[in-house]
Amino acid sequence: MNNGRVEVLDGVNGGRLFNSVEAFLFDCDGVIWKGDKLIDGVSETLHFLRSQGKTLVFVTNNSSKSRRQYAAKFLSLGISVSEDEIFSSSFAAAMYLKSIELSTDKKVYVVGGEGIVEELHLAGFTSLGGPEDAKRMIEIKDNPYVEHDKDVAAVVVGFDPYINFYKLQYATLCIRENPGCLFIATNRDAVGNMTDLQEWPGAGCMVAAVCGSTQKEPIVVGKPSTFMMDFLLKKFNIDTSKMCMVGDRLDTDILFGQSAGCKTLLVLSGVTTLSTLKDPANNILPDFYTDKVSDMLQLLAP
Ligand code: PLP
Ligand code: CA
Repeated sequence: MNNGRVEVLDGVNGGRLFNSVEAFLFDCDGVIWKGDKLIDGVSETLHFLRSQGKTLVFVTNNSSKSRRQYAAKFLSLGISVSEDEIFSSSFAAAMYLKSIELSTDKKVYVVGGEGIVEELHLAGFTSLGGPEDAKRMIEIKDNPYVEHDKDVAAVVVGFDPYINFYKLQYATLCIRENPGCLFIATNRDAVGNMTDLQEWPGAGCMVAAVCGSTQKEPIVVGKPSTFMMDFLLKKFNIDTSKMCMVGDRLDTDILFGQSAGCKTLLVLSGVTTLSTLKDPANNILPDFYTDKVSDMLQLLAP
């Protein structure tokens, strides 16, 4: 928690923040881009921060892409980012299974997209499900019966716009019939942006479906869980008091940064409005807030 005060970012507190911070952790959607569109001024701001020697890290809860696919998305938007600077919840799911030394002889069933499947394979795991099972419901229409693989030791649930009853049945059988089977959620975001036009249900609703059928709670690896933070701290070896988490969501980004002892900057270019921030019912308070990332450039660039 901060001291209960949220300051509007200005030249004075912004300068102090900038001087005290070695690494900026950026949430992606609502901060860097909105769906498929880059937010104005982001490219110049990142360029400025890099030129000043700041470490940049990108942390996204959207599991639909792998780090390789995110690097390609950044590039398509005119920003060069290396895979090593990207921490997606798809990658976090694979790293979690590695961290607990899940045997690669076991299999992982995926309710989710290509991003999770790719990260699992890169980490040496065999996956089942994912986009492969998108049309299975049609196949079993006349004979609704699902045979699940008894070697599935973990089910990973993430964002899946092609979720269907077959996948839910498969995931449920794995978890219910094998008490040792892990139930991992990439994230529980209520909503996400497919484009900049409209919010859509996020992975939270896919995770909730499996919670409902199994009556089990998942291990969540994305923001605000500490797993991703602990993992990236090992890599970057920077004191969290010298990090600033920049995000648009209070209950994922700001909580994620705050729990680790980072400075936090809320931008109002995404899902959180000023009235939500100032609502007396809100108890997640960032250190600073501003309209958009490029305000940092306006305030700090000489
Ligand atoms: N999950 C999905 C499916 C999304 O579409 C989004 C944002 O668009 C998110 C999660 C949140 O992503 P981020 O953590 O980058 O804001
Ligand atoms: Ca966001």
